[in-house]
Amino acid sequence: MDISTTANAAPVDDARLAEILANPGFGTHFTDHMFTVEWTPELGWHDARITPYGPLTLDPATAVLHYAQETFEGMKAYRHGDGSVHLFRPEENAKRMIRSSQRLAFPELPVGDFIAAVEALVKVDERWVPDNTDGGEKSLYLRPFMFASETFLGVRPAQHVTFMVIASPAGAYFKGGVKPVTLWLSEEYTRAGRGGMGAAKTGGNYASSLVAQQEAIAQGCDQVVFLDAQEGKYVEELGGMNLYFVQDDGRIVTPETGTILEGITRASIIELAGKLAHQVEERKFSIDEWREGVTNGSITEIFACGTAAVVTPVGSLKWKDGQLPGPASTELTMRIRSALVDIQFGRADDTFGWMHQV
Ligand code: PMP
Repeated sequence: MDISTTANAAPVDDARLAEILANPGFGTHFTDHMFTVEWTPELGWHDARITPYGPLTLDPATAVLHYAQETFEGMKAYRHGDGSVHLFRPEENAKRMIRSSQRLAFPELPVGDFIAAVEALVKVDERWVPDNTDGGEKSLYLRPFMFASETFLGVRPAQHVTFMVIASPAGAYFKGGVKPVTLWLSEEYTRAGRGGMGAAKTGGNYASSLVAQQEAIAQGCDQVVFLDAQEGKYVEELGGMNLYFVQDDGRIVTPETGTILEGITRASIIELAGKLAHQVEERKFSIDEWREGVTNGSITEIFACGTAAVVTPVGSLKWKDGQLPGPASTELTMRIRSALVDIQFGRADDTFGWMHQV
């Protein structure tokens, strides 16, 4: 893929950038450039370009605004102590975007082109990757996304598709130390059904989660827990993270794939845990098993994982008629967290070959 570059003639100045990187927050500041490539049946993927970051002009009849044919990814670039910049398993994001694209009736963007696009943007905006000389966990969050850009109101897969990458510096998810997330059990709303699009990273899944997330916030909880749509019995995942349950025999359970988003952090933990001599079972895990396990002590730790928070202990679980505390221990949770974060930030050997230098 040939990528043309038009440099931003008025980039954010160094003083303002230093101010932003000192306290980036999440998702509010964007780098100087963006990547775009377009697809039509006649030309395939074409016109790959890096241009100054800025608003899009869309016809009001652009298909994505009506039928939500869209997929996206979330990943990060990390600056290591020697100043070099690395992506974490970008080929996994590329492959997941292909799976999402298949479900959303999109053309596939080849893995190599996905990685080239992300790398090109990180290179041109490298000064936006925060450093972590203070031992912190700042990064440059990358948001690749694909949308139906055809101007047409008929309901069918778009014949004009746009793939873009934008980037936004991200602060440490936890300031002042890792803190357990508190959870609200959604008994009314579900996230994904059999044959639905739960495994795809598509905006519609997040749109449908918002009312449940709003309920969670109103209940004083951080995140919502979704159960399976068919029986309302099995734990699926959180609004934006996967779940893990540690048992007193050392085995770890995580809900099986199918209707959940296949987290790259989740997959990495399966490999990491093996190295720490903990076997991971991917299987159905019921809400009753959760309640009983915590009550009788056979579940010793629960944690959630995802690109944003990496790994975080799970605190209390609240539902309409009751509440359950989180298990007291976070020993294995924090060990897994450190192992992963140390690889990402280049503070430990990358024995799995997960890091991809830009
Ligand atoms: N589940 C959902 C619904 C998510 O949005 C995310 C975040 N992408 C995850 C799980 C975790 O996925 P990952 O580890 O790839 O960030």
